[in-house]
Formats: sequence, C-alpha cells, structure tokens
Amino acid sequence: EAIIEVDGLRKRFGRTTALDGMTFTVTPGRVTGFVGPNGAGKSTTMRVILGLDMADEGTALVGGRPYASLRNPLGHVGALLDAAALQPSRKARDHLLWLAHSQGLTARRVDEVIELVGLRSVARRKAGGFSLGMRQRLGIAAALIGDPPILMLDEPSNGLDPEGIVWIRGLLRSLAAEGRAVLVSSHLMSELQDTAGHLVVVGRGRVVADTSVADLIETA
Ligand code: ADP
Ligand code: ADP
Repeated sequence: EAIIEVDGLRKRFGRTTALDGMTFTVTPGRVTGFVGPNGAGKSTTMRVILGLDMADEGTALVGGRPYASLRNPLGHVGALLDAAALQPSRKARDHLLWLAHSQGLTARRVDEVIELVGLRSVARRKAGGFSLGMRQRLGIAAALIGDPPILMLDEPSNGLDPEGIVWIRGLLRSLAAEGRAVLVSSHLMSELQDTAGHLVVVGRGRVVADTSVADLIETA
C-alpha cells in the first residue's frame, strides 16, 4: 500500500548529521504531514528520495524502486523543493511551457495549471519579479503539470499570505482525495494538523512520532 518507503536513511554533511535513521512510509489517498523544526532533515530526506542527494546508508523507494530507476520519473512524482531557485529571467508561463514541452504535454495543460494556482494575471511576467508567495504558486504549478500520482512539497506555505495558506490547504486535501500520495513538509504543526491524515514528526534526522490523525484524536 505504501508508495514511498524510506528506510533507515543516514546522511552526514561533514560533521553535521542530517539524517540519523529516518524511516517512514507514505500511502496514497491522504496527506502525509512531515513536521519538525528547521534542520530536522526534511529537505534532505526529500532530496534523497528524488535522487538529488545520496544517503550514506538506508534506502528510499518510490513504487518499490529507487527514483533514479523509474522510467518516467516526472510522470510519477511532482516536487516543490526550493521555489526561490526558479530561473528569474524566464516568464512564468514560458517556464511552464518549457517543462510541459520536456514532458510531452500541451500548452493547454500549462494554462490549466496556471489557472489552478491563481497566476493567470501574472503569467507573462518574469519570475524574478515575483514575491516568494507567487514563486511558490509557480513551483506548485510546475509540480502538478504532469498530473503525477505522487507529490512532494517542501514548505509550500512559505511566503504565502493567509489567503494563500487557506488555498493550499484546500489544494492538498483535494489532491489526496483524488487518490494521490501527498508528502508535505512544514516546521509548523499548526499548518498541517487540519490537513494531514498522517503525521510524521521529525527531529535531528529521525522520526520522533508517526501517527494517523484519527488515532491522535482517539487517544486525546
Ligand atoms: P530541514 O529541511 O528539516 O530544515 P535540512 O534537511 O535542510 O533540514 O537540513 C538538515 C541538516 O543538514 C541541517 O543541519 C542542515 O544545515 C544540514 N545540511 C543540509 N544540506 C546541507 C548541505 N548541502 N551541506 C551541509 N549541510 C547541510
Ligand atoms: P530548508 O529551508 O528546507 O531548511 P535550506 O534553505 O536550509 O532548506 O537549504 C536550502 C539548500 O541549501 C538545500 O539544497 C540544502 O541542502 C542546502 N543547505 C542547507 N544547509 C546547508 C549548510 N549548512 N551548508 C550548505 N548547504 C546547506
């Protein structure tokens, strides 16, 4: 049932231990909230799952295979890692057109995701002039463009205004309700407690609590 399986990841950067036995799974049809303070290892875990960083030990499987061995990885996993890293000189819509083209998708799909993330009025402006919130929306559009069954979003609420935060909660819920697996990180429990059906709480590179929200309410 699990579509992402993270098992015993260890990773050091020099003297810093970023991951210290990180272990959890993500299942389709619910939002998995990945919560913990800055530096807990959330981004590194996502980067290892996506094959952007190598773990020293442990495994991360997507659909039972390492990400790097998936035949059509972008069709499987949509990811938002660092919206600030978007190419600043490229217009928002051109950025998405380029992505669409590289995945064999149409301009119609580009306009659909632009609409979905609420960027229509600024789609022909350069991303470099965008606020962080607008860049997050553009990054989310990029993650969604291939309609992937798995989404991994690292701190997607960063820079969003209160209206944007409400919007993203609704978006995450509907993506999960459509049967997708959604892994979303935040350093704020309050951002995820109403959205996530499954909470993986991390600190210092490992899981400190792993629970379904229904269980939390049962035992409270
Ligand atoms: P989080 O996403 O939970 O804030 P990170 O995965 O970004 O945590 O970071 C975990 C730890 O690893 C932190 O101490 C961070 O400074 C360190 N770290 C992450 N990436 C690097 C890197 N490329 N070089 C050195 N240290 C890193
Ligand atoms: P997050 O906001 O998720 O904690 P950061 O903003 O800390 O992520 O990190 C952004 C990028 O910088 C990532 O690629 C991460 O691997 C890298 N990084 C994080 N901490 C360090 C560090 N101490 N030294 C070098 N690179 C780092």
